[in-house]
Amino acid sequence: MAEKTLFEKICDREIPTDIVHEDDLCVCFKDISPQAPVHFLVIPRKPVARVAEAENSDQALLGHLLLTASKVAKDQGFAENGFRLVINNGPDGGEAVPHLHVHLLAGRQLEWPPG
Ligand code: AMP
Repeated sequence: MAEKTLFEKICDREIPTDIVHEDDLCVCFKDISPQAPVHFLVIPRKPVARVAEAENSDQALLGHLLLTASKVAKDQGFAENGFRLVINNGPDGGEAVPHLHVHLLAGRQLEWPPG
């Protein structure tokens, strides 16, 4: 059996994190190295490596990740001011952890274009 990814261990609570939401399909927790006053990660429990590895059968799961990010933003009261969702894919995309994750950033004016 393949070794668990860091984020699978977080899902299974083998590595402690500050979890802000969880359900049957995903977990949302605080990023360990926040790039904004609010920086959460929304990850699927299913170990999809990156969005480019997602399959047609993952369509509902991908939608669930975005809807969950939006729900967390509303529940935590920062949706009105705005937020940004980011998915890094592969080396040029800046992906460091090979387990699909949606960055949820908020709490300051975010710049565009990103670096
Ligand atoms: P990426 O560069 O898109 O792969 O993002 C990976 C993110 O995971 C980075 O923002 C890291 O700060 C974050 N990260 C890595 N390890 C942990 C951890 N143990 N708990 C929370 N966030 C983490």
